Parts: sequence; structure tokens; C-alpha cells
Amino acid sequence: MTPIQALQKYFGYSAFRHQQGAIIQHILDKKDVLTLMPTGGGKSLCYQLPAVLLDGLTIVISPLIALMKDQVDALNVNGIPAAFINSSQSTQEQIEISTRLKNNQIKLLYLAPERLFGKESKLMAFLKSLPVALIAIDEAHCISHWGHDFRPEYLALAGLKVEFPNIPVIALTATADKLTKKDILEKLNLKDPEVFISSFNRENITYRVVPKKNSFNQLLAFLDERKEESGIIYCLSRKSTESLAADLKEEGFLAEAYHAGLDNAVKARTQEAFLRDEVRIIVATIAFGMGINKSNVRYVVHMDLPKNIEGYYQETGRAGRDGLPSDAMLLFSPGDAIKLKQFAMVEDNPEQSRIMLKKLDDMVNYCQLHACRRQFLLKYFDEDFPPGCGSCDFCLTEFPRFDATLIAQKALSAVARLKERFGGAYVVDFLRGSKSEKIREEHKQLKTYGIGADISKPEWQRYLRELTAMGYLQVTDDMYPVLKLTQKSEAVLKGLEKVELVASQIIEEHQPATEALPFEAALLAELRNIRRDIAQHENVPPYVILSDAGLQEMATYLPQSLDELRLISGFGDIKLARYGREFLLPVKNYSAKNGLSSKIKHKVPKRERKAKTERAAGNIRSSDTAKESFTLYRSGKPISEIAAQRKLAPTTIEGHLSFYIYKGEMEVTELVIQEKIPTIKDAVENYGAEKLAPLKEILGDNYSYGEIKAVVAWMRKNGDI
Ligand code: ADP
Ligand code: ZN
Repeated sequence: MTPIQALQKYFGYSAFRHQQGAIIQHILDKKDVLTLMPTGGGKSLCYQLPAVLLDGLTIVISPLIALMKDQVDALNVNGIPAAFINSSQSTQEQIEISTRLKNNQIKLLYLAPERLFGKESKLMAFLKSLPVALIAIDEAHCISHWGHDFRPEYLALAGLKVEFPNIPVIALTATADKLTKKDILEKLNLKDPEVFISSFNRENITYRVVPKKNSFNQLLAFLDERKEESGIIYCLSRKSTESLAADLKEEGFLAEAYHAGLDNAVKARTQEAFLRDEVRIIVATIAFGMGINKSNVRYVVHMDLPKNIEGYYQETGRAGRDGLPSDAMLLFSPGDAIKLKQFAMVEDNPEQSRIMLKKLDDMVNYCQLHACRRQFLLKYFDEDFPPGCGSCDFCLTEFPRFDATLIAQKALSAVARLKERFGGAYVVDFLRGSKSEKIREEHKQLKTYGIGADISKPEWQRYLRELTAMGYLQVTDDMYPVLKLTQKSEAVLKGLEKVELVASQIIEEHQPATEALPFEAALLAELRNIRRDIAQHENVPPYVILSDAGLQEMATYLPQSLDELRLISGFGDIKLARYGREFLLPVKNYSAKNGLSSKIKHKVPKRERKAKTERAAGNIRSSDTAKESFTLYRSGKPISEIAAQRKLAPTTIEGHLSFYIYKGEMEVTELVIQEKIPTIKDAVENYGAEKLAPLKEILGDNYSYGEIKAVVAWMRKNGDI
């Protein structure tokens, strides 16, 4: 059986995602592999599929017991014999499992690392007596001090290559910066490993950062539109998870708290109820979620500032594993950053404290960002991505601008008068004419003192940030950062250059560009009920039976036979045989009643994406999705057709192609006629490329967003901006 056949047969998927195909081939060739893939990217399949194909046992090392049960359930439902050994089991259960292992009746065995190398553990000797074919190490970043989630018990895994020298090892993680990556490779003793790095872009997640004001009301407004959906809300402290969960319950939401201080039984019950959609909202500290692979989490909210981007990205990544549109919202208050600084200090370890503080700083920068959030996040993970993703708050917002030349002049001259020796807070107080003693007497005599009293403090802070982002001011890197002028300041001070700023923080969002599939809502509701009943009967969470995406596909394409049902995502042989008829019947009845027929022909099978491997070294990655658009474009398809085929907006496709202009693999003239280029270039030079909306406004209807993006990409490539 080929890997692709097994993918269809056991997992019901028609194509590999990301680099799954290449990774699996490497394992089948008995090579060691490190896989970096975003949360929800499909890491598990990278070892589960080889486990099915290889003769013998696959051992999976995983840090959390909760995760194991879930994965084992899902495998068994797919007809793949799997088990776990952990402390929650009785001796009798463990004996049964070892018997099945001895009889080669189990393909995958899940273990926590501490079981393996425990002092009195006889497990290792037992495992060595079995025909082990593959070892998978999940959440491999736990082995590194540099990561954000270090677990000392992972260090013992170095012994695996000693005990099983000839067995291929696959290490997997969703987050790894350069240091962590290096650490994983070294500490695990991987042999000439191939490193696979997938694009970390999660295109179905929309990122938003909202200034925190009255957080509970803000949350309620957000939840009001998502009453039927599942979501995770992260808080910093255990206490606040409990009080928030209680408040939400009072408002009629099915919410429960979850944190490390709760009783194990309570935690297990809450988690289980969440998986089964009986609890809709989990209010949790970061203790919750690692390894939760519930696929229909529709949103993740951060009530408090996360400590670093790695954690934030992993947490937001728990939304939308099924590929459907999902939301990430973070409520940001600068005060949170100050609070977190204390936590970032690691006792007696200045080096690590420095790293943690830097990570916190990056997190704050993300929150205060006035540019595409997705681009920032991906850049953080060393990935080039064009700006203008179309699905973050920045890209979805039109910012009305106004002539702020006078304001800029006031700010810049204040900085000049203060001899470029004071930080933002002092400059603002000075501008506002604060009577505080902190303002030096001699400064109170200056003409500029108090010239900005008509503007509020937060607004001044925002203007200073924007002026800095636009390059009219700069902030030093010192312990006590001060504001300084730049080369660009003089022109403004002399009245030679106009400055435009964003008028207010009131956000008017467009709708995201991705169009939802037209599905039969009533049928979907019916299918959901059927899934719930089957799940209850089988005693597993509903999404283990079938993902939301699979249900939605059924309600969209209306399969009329088992053969057609096979084309729906998630239906492998076993699932088709076990549950196919149960799902098919209501679809057929519904179609007959409403005079509808099968639309399965419209379902475009996703092509296997070209895999790219990398030796253990840093490189630039392109995103899979951009590549797919580019390949289609190169095959001669017009943009409108690619957009229709890929169910993406044409502007998204243009964005993808711009990336290749930036990379120099495509000429700008392929997207923009020569005559238009100088005008666009001119506009970009005058107004900057941070935001497309104002450029579009200036250029008018004759210039499309796509053309502007293309020229911006081309100018970036040339180093013009
Ligand atoms: P990760 O461990 O990387 O966070 P998972 O392994 O939990 O992600 O996979 C996320 C979801 O994607 C799961 O529901 C999984 O079944 C699904 N999935 C994985 N590979 C594919 C594929 N090739 N096609 C469709 N769905 C897939
Ligand atoms: Zn964006």
C-alpha cells in the first residue's frame, strides 16, 4: 500500500497537507526527522501513517496524559489499534496491554517520558524485546531550556538513541526558534536528521488585538456573536479563570474554569465535557490546551498579555484545526506588560532573564503594532510573508487619516527642546503642560511646554508611537529609552513635509475576504445531531467521529452514495463502513425533499503540495498556499480562475503572487502594465507602504489593490522601501 492509499483508507483524506508526504517518505526510508509545523498543521499524521505502514510497533512519547487518551480514541475509531500506558490505569489494564503488545496486536503505544527512564522501570527492557519500528517524540521543544515550555524529564530522551540505535526517530514541535531547534537536534542525538519546516501561517485564523477597557463587556460583545461555538479564553491567574467562568455562567454561557490547581478528577471531567461540546467555553490558564486536538475550537481569547509570541501563537493555534474560519482576540493593556516583567525574571539566571524579557518585549511590540499582524508573527518565526494578509484587524480596517503636520511639529520640537534626552512619558507630560514636579523647572520655562494640552495623554502616546513607526522619531535601545530625532525629522520641522496620522482608534472593519461555502444549514444541524448520537454511543468526543469540516462538506456537496461519501474529508474505509450509511441517509432524504442533487463534482480535490526539505540550517520559507497560487498562475491560469478554484478572493491571489515578485521569481510587469508603475511608485514613496487603503484612495479606481501590492513588493525587492 502506498502512503497516499493508506491516507485515504485509514484517515479518509485525499491529499497530504504541508510536507506530510515527504516527511512520511523519510521515515519509511528509516531516516531521522525533525518536523516543525504549526499547531493544527497535522503533525500526528506524520507518525501515525508510517506506524500503519511499518511492520512492528511505533512508540509515541508525549508529555500529557490527557492528550494520549484522545489520540488513542481517534486511532481506534479509524480502525488502527493503539493504546497508552500511564498512571491512570489499573495493573490489570496494564497487563492486558502488555499481552496485546507481546502478540503484536498494537500499532501505536503512547507513553510519557518519565515512564520510560524511571529508575525502577522495567518498561525499557520490555520495549526492547518488542519489534519497535519507529519512535515519535511529540512536543520536542520541551527538551530545551531556551523554549518556553522546558520539561526536565525530556532530557532523559537522549537515551533513546542509545537504547534503540537503529530505529528512526521523528521529533515534532509546533514552536521552535533557532536556539530551541539546535537544542532539540543535539539533545536527542538525532542521526543526520532532515529538518522539515512548514509554513507557520494559519490562514483560517483572524488575529485581532483590542485595547483592554472594560474587559468583561468586551468579552460579552465578542461572545454574543458566537453563542453556539466552542472557544478557549486564557487568563493569567488561576483566580481570574474561576471568577470569569462564574461570571460567564451567570450570563448563561456553558463555561468552566481550568487550571493546574484543580483536582485531577475535576480537570479530566471539564476537559471531557469540552471535547464533547457539553461545555462550550473553557476559561483557562496556559495549563490547558497543550495537546488538546479538539478540531472545532472556533475562537481563542487572551484576556491578559501572553508572556511570549511562541506561547501566544501556540495558544491561538488551537483555534480552527478543522480549517474553518476562526478568531483570535487579545485584550491588551500596557499595564499587563509591566506586571509580567516581574514574572519574566528567572532567579539567579541573568542570561535567561534577558531572553525572557526580550520575548516579552516582542509580545508588546506585536500588540502595539500598526501593520499586518500575520506578517509580524511569521517574521518572528523567520518566515517571509507579504503584508496585507486580508485577515488581521489591521488589514481589515480602513484607518481614516488626517493632516497631522502641526501635531508632528509639536512633538518633534518638544523632543528637540528637551535635547533628545527624555523618554516618551516625559515628552507627553511636557507637551501637555503637566504641573507635576517631575517636570524640571527649566523645562517649564520653554515655549513648547504645554503646547499640546488639547490632546489627551493616551492619544499623544499613540501619536508618538506612530511617528516612531513612520521614522520621524526613534527610540534608543537603552535601559531607559529616550526619544531622538531622525534624518526625516528636519523636513517636518521646517514645514517641508506633511505628516498624516490615523484619526482615531475607532475601528471599522470590513468583512474578511474569504467566502464561506454555501451549505444547507438545516441539514448541517441534522448531521450534527447524528454525530452527537454516534459519539455518545461510542463514548468518544464528537469530532473524533467526524470533524466539523467533514459535516460541512456533506451539507455542501450532498453525496448520494457511499462512493461519493468517500470523497468527503475524514471518511476512511473503516469510518465509511461503520458510519457511512447513518450519515448518508439523512443527506439523501434531505436532497430528495428539497429537489437537490449531488454537487460532489464541484469538490476540487486538493493537490498534494510540493514538499521542500531543508538541512539543519536557517532558511527562508515560502508559504504553501502562495506557492500553490504561483504554480497555477505559471500553468497559464488567469487570476480570476485561480481565485475561483481555490475559493479565495482575487486580492488574496494577487498577494500571493506579489510574494514571488518580491523574491524575484516573477516580473512586476506580469501584473501591472508598465505605464502605471511610476505613478504607483510615486504614491508609495510619498505615503509609505505600511497601509494599502490610503494608497488606493490616492490612486483612485484605475489602480487595483493587486497592482499596488505588486509594485510595493517590487520596490521592497529593489530595496527602495
Ligand atoms: P497538530 O498535532 O500539528 O497540532 P493534528 O495532528 O492534531 O495537528 O491535526 C490537526 C487536524 O488536521 C486533525 O483533525 C487531523 O485529522 C487533520 N489532518 C491532518 N492531516 C490532514 C490531511 N492531510 N488532510 C486533512 N486533514 C488532515
Ligand atoms: Zn494582516
